[in-house]
Amino acid sequence: MPAQTTRTKGNQAKRLPPKKKQKQQKRSPFKILIPLLVILVLAGLVGNLIRLGLGENHVPAWIDSQILPEDCNSRTGQKLSEVRDIAVHYVGNPGTTAQQNRDYFAQPDTDVNSHFVIGLEGEVIQCIPLNERSSATNERNVDTISIEVCHPDDSGQFTEESYASLVKLTAWLCDHEHIGRDRVIRHYDVTGKLCPLYFVEHEEAWDQFRQDVKNY
Ligand SMILES: [Zn+2]
Repeated sequence: MPAQTTRTKGNQAKRLPPKKKQKQQKRSPFKILIPLLVILVLAGLVGNLIRLGLGENHVPAWIDSQILPEDCNSRTGQKLSEVRDIAVHYVGNPGTTAQQNRDYFAQPDTDVNSHFVIGLEGEVIQCIPLNERSSATNERNVDTISIEVCHPDDSGQFTEESYASLVKLTAWLCDHEHIGRDRVIRHYDVTGKLCPLYFVEHEEAWDQFRQDVKNY
């Protein structure tokens, strides 16, 4: 009898490992699925963080984003160190449209560009990603976002529609970049160039513009 008991116990003991294996085989799909799900969720989170960190181009629908080709001569690809000011310019070429100026920036022999061009009808075209430097504001390309504005004649005065878009875009950019609404400069303030001409020759118009951005 004692021998039989031992044998029975021995048999039971021998049977146990196969049962464990069966259980392991049943659990294995979950053991693969759960880590996979965790990896997928983490990858999604990391992707979103990278996108935010790189400042992927998220702009409102009223901005027509026509980013210049990466290999175009005027686009350096260099990243902005930070954004300290929004720099306002005028195109200096009366009667030209925002699209014409954008396409000019894209030409192989052009070495200037701007983040945005505002047209005579108030249309807004984006040419350079928000996290990248433009070639518009000389030594301040490193820490400014630039806006070029079209104008109908040599006075450089903007149309009502262009002006309204300039106020709207400047206010949006200041908020988007988390800088004060007073962080607006003229190209003139950097180099002394008469740009934007009307705001240089009419200081009161410049003051009014800055007030309009604050009040927007
Ligand atoms: Zn300028």
